[in-house]
Amino acid sequence: MTRICKKCGFENQDDYDFCAKCGTPLVEGLQPNQVYVYKADQLQINKKAIVAAYIITIFLSWSGFVVGLISKQTNLAVFTFFGFFMPFYLVQSRHPTLRKHGLVMMMISLVGVGLSFYVMLH
Ligand SMILES: [Zn+2]
Repeated sequence: MTRICKKCGFENQDDYDFCAKCGTPLVEGLQPNQVYVYKADQLQINKKAIVAAYIITIFLSWSGFVVGLISKQTNLAVFTFFGFFMPFYLVQSRHPTLRKHGLVMMMISLVGVGLSFYVMLH
């Protein structure tokens, strides 16, 4: 006996709870298999998370520059290196759009860190 997927028509073994082809639940009441959907590269990108990542990256990378301009306490420029955490995390993503955002954030971080050190050394 097989379990036929309602979504794609794939014939699954009767002990499968999720379609082996598309991840759709084969049993009523089960949630879609998140892990499988992720592996299938159908990961939905959370736009709010991307915006938050940009804000965190800009805040961390550029805070040393802003603080340096205001207070001349320029040793805080080292703090700006924390701004690289988010882009480095994102460029390792298997999702091409997330990698692209990671590269953009890395550029923002580089400019911010560059400005911070410019303020520190002058
Ligand atoms: Zn299916």
